[in-house]
Parts: sequence; C-alpha cells; structure tokens
Amino acid sequence: ADPFLSVRDLYVRFSTEDGIVKAVDGLSFDLERGRTLGIVGESGSGKSVTNLAVLGLHNPKSTTISGEILLDGQELTGAREKTLERLRGNKMAMIFQDPLTALSPYYTVGRQIAEPFVKHTGASKREGRLRAVEMLGKVGIPQPQTRVDDYPHQFSGGMRQRAMIAMSLVCNPSLLIADEPTTALDVTVQAQILDLLKDLQQEFGSAIILITHDLGVVANTADDILVMYAGRAVERGSVKEVLQSPRHPYTWGLLGSMPRLSGDVEQPLKPIPGTPPSLLNPPPGCPFHPRCAYTGEVGGDRCSSERPVLPEGRGGACHLTAERKQSIFIEDIQPA
Ligand code: SF4
Ligand code: MG
Repeated sequence: ADPFLSVRDLYVRFSTEDGIVKAVDGLSFDLERGRTLGIVGESGSGKSVTNLAVLGLHNPKSTTISGEILLDGQELTGAREKTLERLRGNKMAMIFQDPLTALSPYYTVGRQIAEPFVKHTGASKREGRLRAVEMLGKVGIPQPQTRVDDYPHQFSGGMRQRAMIAMSLVCNPSLLIADEPTTALDVTVQAQILDLLKDLQQEFGSAIILITHDLGVVANTADDILVMYAGRAVERGSVKEVLQSPRHPYTWGLLGSMPRLSGDVEQPLKPIPGTPPSLLNPPPGCPFHPRCAYTGEVGGDRCSSERPVLPEGRGGACHLTAERKQSIFIEDIQPA
C-alpha cells in the first residue's frame, strides 16, 4: 500500500532581495498512520519550511515549490487554496511553538477550540461548546466545564499549549504537525506535553511529524528520525538506529550537543563548531563540509565537490565508508 504521507523530491525556493534561497533541496520521506517522524536539525535546516509546504501555508507569491506531496493519495503541491483550506484543521493540523500566536486573546478558549469543529462538521454552537469541553478534558485540563469560558490569559503556559493541542485535534486530523511544541515550556511540562501527544496518537491513530532541534525530544516520542541539514535529509532511520549507531558527522554533532546525565554529572554541552550555511549560496559538494572534522578521512576534495547521496531506507549522506563511520563513532563520539 502507498504510505499515508509521501514527499518526493521536494524543492522549496524563496525569492528575496538578495537572490534565491534554496530552503528545501530535494527532500523525500514517507510517513505511515499511527507513527511519529521526528524531523531534527538546527534552525535554517528547512524543517519548518518543509512542513509549511505540506500544509500549503507558504507565501505563494515569493515561493516556488516542485516535487510531490501525496497525502492519502491526494497531490498537495498543485492543490488549490480552497482544497488546502478544507484539509487544514480537518485532515491535517498544526501545533505551533507559541500558543499565543495561535490563540486569540479576544475569544474564550472554548470558542476557539470549537470553531474548526463547527466549521468543518456543521455542528451547532452548543455542540461545539460540548466538544470543546470534551477536548479540554482529553488534554488534561482539570474541570474543563468550568474552564471552557476562560480567556487564554487565564491559562498558564502549559495549559495554553494543551488548549492549542485540543484545538488541533478537535476535528480528528489524520496528520498532525508539531513544530517545536515544547521549546517554550519548562522541562517537566515539556515531558507532560510529549506524553500527552503520544496518548492522543494512540487514541486518534494520527500520523505525527515532530519538528525539533533537540534529539532528546524525539528520543522518547518518535518512531523514526529524519536529520536535516541545509535543506536536505542527511540521515534517516528508526530512533534506535539513529541514536545508537548514527551514520553522519552532523548527527554526531547533534548527539554531542545534547545534554545528558551520566551518573549524577551532567556532561558539558559541546556545540557544533561553525554556523549553518547560507542557503542563498550553499556550499558545493557535501553542505556540511565547512564544519566537518572528517573531510581528511575521505581524501582529495571529494567532500567539497561531490554531493553525497542519502540511500533509500536506513543510511547517512556522507562519503565516509560504513566501517569508518562505525569505528569513529565507537572510538570518538559514543558516550562512555
Ligand atoms: Fe563530512 Fe565529507 Fe561526510 Fe560531508 S561527506 S559529512 S564533509 S566526511
Ligand atoms: Mg523553525
């Protein structure tokens, strides 16, 4: 059977005053129902842009998209705005980083949760309010019938995030895209929200794309990982595969910059040296080569001239041999 979501050779370009930004540069991935894909990378890696393109939320005037985005067999790249609007909030929904950008201060939380439900199902206002109470309960707001008429400012940050999740799930979407859904929250609340997403996925069977810069966030929540760098996928695999035997120096860098507890001591963070490249003029060859410590291992100028290919299925887009990657990881990178 065809995958539920299939992205093939996706290119997203923006025109700016300074030239063309190659925000997504030939990306392919699949996602099945009931599974969670973590898309991981630094800011500017193309992970948010990819998902705005899936949702059709890019600016059509300045953005060119090519490639295929198939959702349940329906082609989205050429779809009309009307079609996309019907799909958004109904078949696919988004959870944003900051609930305050998604929740209006002028309407009650309940009304805002009910609105997409009323719009897409033709339910009455009263049914909408009941549904909002139900959804607030599902996302763990205590005594939802007494909180449904509150305004967003009467909710804590964690509660607002829950309310936004309720709003995203109110129409039972089959695809849920969560862009850094917990970054603004403290660690305890973060863990609660991620647990909640997992529970709701069990109940609703949605496919989830979880976008984050933090491998730690996907470690406990996702099934599969796609690591993005400079608008491309550089590594993919199951969470276990990517965390236990990563096959790309950029993934090694992300692992090294992830805070981890070993015994009682928190290991110091080792940020990846350098900065992500400008996508106006991306480096030739492997886009990671200006920051990579292993170009000498590959030899010649291969890293700066030849673009490494990401194999289908499990793999990393890097010229190092599989054996060399394994030994470098075990000797230099793996936490003791
Ligand atoms: Fe580093 Fe070369 Fe591999 Fe790119 S291809 S990650 S520059 S070793
Ligand atoms: Mg982003």
